[in-house]
Amino acid sequence: MKLLEDRIREDGQVLGAEVLKVDNFLNHQIDPDLMMALGEEFHRQFKDQKITKILTVESSGIAPALAAGMAFHVPVVFARKHKSLTLKDDLYTAEVYSFTKKTANQIAIAQKFLSANDKCLIIDDFLANGQAVEGLIDIIEQANATLEGVGIVIEKSFQKGRKLLDERHIKTVSLARIKAFNNGQVEFEEEA
Ligand code: 5GP
Repeated sequence: MKLLEDRIREDGQVLGAEVLKVDNFLNHQIDPDLMMALGEEFHRQFKDQKITKILTVESSGIAPALAAGMAFHVPVVFARKHKSLTLKDDLYTAEVYSFTKKTANQIAIAQKFLSANDKCLIIDDFLANGQAVEGLIDIIEQANATLEGVGIVIEKSFQKGRKLLDERHIKTVSLARIKAFNNGQVEFEEEA
């Protein structure tokens, strides 16, 4: 998606060999107009799938997931990373190794928000090694719900997440696909 690629070129900061910082429009400060455009594009790509629920992981997935939810007019559920007084019982949980924090986290979704009738679209900000998406897929399977597809804002195609999803024949749409970081510059895959 050209709009997103241009924004990454303009505001993205490459950190080391594998990390892109986009705190100007996605991970800290959020550009709502850009989010809405991303949500519309996810809708265009998945509108034939009869999605009933959008799933993501807190916190950085929430903005694009909400934008997608507004385009589909379906509820958005974000998996929580921390137990709280109000999130205790009747949970689906999965273990997720965090790429950016290098620690294992448990993610949890209350069972009442996911049922066997749900057709789910997973949305996340980044796809790196696929751990966050795999955790959500695990939860969808526990609920006997159906996974209809995965929508990613920024995919780093040189890491293994995309390959894992392709091997499982999951429809995956990434709005920007990064082939490599070269001397601090972002190189994108050719758009199909
Ligand atoms: P994965 O689970 O696919 O290995 O990593 C995805 C998660 O890690 C995303 O939800 C995102 O929060 C974080 N992440 C992975 N790579 C990057 C990156 O290059 N930049 C930022 N800001 N977050 C990343």
